[in-house]
Amino acid sequence: MAQSSGRICLTFDDMFVDHWVAALPLLQDFEASVTFCVCKLHTLDADAIAGLHQLQDAGHEIAFHTRNHHNAATFIEQHGIDAWAAQELDHGIAEHRAAGFPATSFAAAFHVLPPPAAKAVKHRFRVGRSSGPWGRTDVDITRRIYKTPRDIVHCAGWLDTCHPKFPGWRHINHILQQTAAAGGVSVFAGHDIVAQSHPPGFHMTLDDLGHLLDLARAHGLGFCTLSDTGP
Ligand SMILES: [Zn+2]
Repeated sequence: MAQSSGRICLTFDDMFVDHWVAALPLLQDFEASVTFCVCKLHTLDADAIAGLHQLQDAGHEIAFHTRNHHNAATFIEQHGIDAWAAQELDHGIAEHRAAGFPATSFAAAFHVLPPPAAKAVKHRFRVGRSSGPWGRTDVDITRRIYKTPRDIVHCAGWLDTCHPKFPGWRHINHILQQTAAAGGVSVFAGHDIVAQSHPPGFHMTLDDLGHLLDLARAHGLGFCTLSDTGP
């Protein structure tokens, strides 16, 4: 199929560093640059930090996914927006930068980003990733395919193929098709990447990642990082 100007932005959240590093050769085979959205960096050991550098050095983005992974709506209700911005953004951003990661883009914990939090994110990052698809298929995908840079993006697709709410490959294929036709960018959100499927949860298998990359290539799509979606 002809090359499309469309691209997909694959994002993987939390702190599954060992498994992400194990996915590097597969991503390299497809020349796919992806984004790992890391929270709780201050709890990671030296090996995990080294793993994140290995990912970054291979051309992937290490994005910021809050300091402690609180639900922003609940936290702000209890402690206020200033406390959230100081603790969950500024403190954590400083830790990322001290460890050698740029913290240029942001991914909301639990895909929860109330308006005051979104405003604080826009002041600090090139782009923030907000709503997730939560396994839904009733979201208007065309409104989540971006043809111009955005400071807040919403996810079109879901990468946790082993989760009971995964909407299926037919739906993924539909998003890829729409993205290629529109020539825009669509954002996908996932978590862990495992060698073999085990009990259902927030993960995909390496085989499934390979399948997705194959499908994207078949649609003529390229890849971009989360900060690439911003201005
Ligand atoms: Zn998360």
